[in-house]
Amino acid sequence: MAETNSLQTQVLVPVLPTLEMIRPYLESIDRTHIYSNDGPLNRLFCLELAKYLEGRITPPATIVATTVSNGTIAIELALKASAKRDARYIMLPAYTFIATAHAVKNAGFEPFFLDVDEELLTITPEIVRAALSECDAPAAVIVVSPFGGPVQTSGWEQFEDETGIPVIFDCAAAITSIRSVSRQPMCISLHATKMIGVGEGGAVISTDADLIARIRQAASFGFTPDSRISEVVGGNYRLSEYAAAIGLSSLESVDGKVSLLFDKARIYRENFSGNPVRFQPGFGQDWIAMTMNVILEGARVQRVLDTLDRHRLPWRRWWSLGCHTHPAFANSARTELPVTEVVAYNTIGLPFHVEISEQEIARISRIVTDA
Ligand SMILES: *Cc1c(COP(=O)(O)O)cnc(C)c1O
Repeated sequence: MAETNSLQTQVLVPVLPTLEMIRPYLESIDRTHIYSNDGPLNRLFCLELAKYLEGRITPPATIVATTVSNGTIAIELALKASAKRDARYIMLPAYTFIATAHAVKNAGFEPFFLDVDEELLTITPEIVRAALSECDAPAAVIVVSPFGGPVQTSGWEQFEDETGIPVIFDCAAAITSIRSVSRQPMCISLHATKMIGVGEGGAVISTDADLIARIRQAASFGFTPDSRISEVVGGNYRLSEYAAAIGLSSLESVDGKVSLLFDKARIYRENFSGNPVRFQPGFGQDWIAMTMNVILEGARVQRVLDTLDRHRLPWRRWWSLGCHTHPAFANSARTELPVTEVVAYNTIGLPFHVEISEQEIARISRIVTDA
């Protein structure tokens, strides 16, 4: 098997548990002969995920979690369970990973793209309220965690109470930065590139046990637990026991991964201090993610990117220039997007992962600063 280039020069390096860590769970699969269909490892993983989050939120709450086959399906199922069936549009930020927009379409709705807040890089209740005159009675709003950053649930509960418009959260990359959970469903990705990875997988969490039960049912042919009667229309969006085995090991090792990434972020922040390079609020201080973005001054962006290319250093616009710039969504409804157009252009993902060395961070920071 060909070894890839040095990990040092990659923009993101996924880290999943090693064989040794997964082995005890795999041995239990050998014993039980249960390979899927909400087996014992999946049930344990759902409980452990909920427990992990319960230990990190204020105010305290009882959380229920269910797993699904990926983060995009998590959003689709949350929309099908929560959004108003008699309305057409789902409001969501134009600045998000394109999966959010696909989930809207696949759930049977049309996206209505909104502009984002310049600091937070996502929508606020104020932005949605201001857009309601342009999109009457949306079926739901999707709030997206900006690159794994925390989202504020209290303002959105109040928004839903006052407007009657259901809210769901795309917290795909935010599992370690969730600080509050409400009844409004939060959709998580367990993709290899996310903080708790299983390869391909997802989860939905909420304090509303009935909502989670409906989503679990829709993910398994609409069957109620212990019956083979389809109560509602669904599909097969389950997680296998093998994936749950990796999930349990991933959860056991997440604290170590988080602390390593905090260290790397701190070194970047030190190297960039005093330079006109912005980070997302609290990044590397209050929260961390698998990706690291810097927000550059518009006039410098092209020069920085050319210089990175010349040094063969990888960079990414993880969320491209906005969903509306993709051909598949070019004709979707939207408001004016002046902030999205600026922040999407200026926000650049730099190499960031647990393997990156202090020397490499210093070199990359120097190259960006000098450009
Ligand atoms: C990763 C991600 C998704 C998609 O998750 P998958 O598990 O890859 O389907 C959706 N939204 C955001 C914001 C993401 O970062």
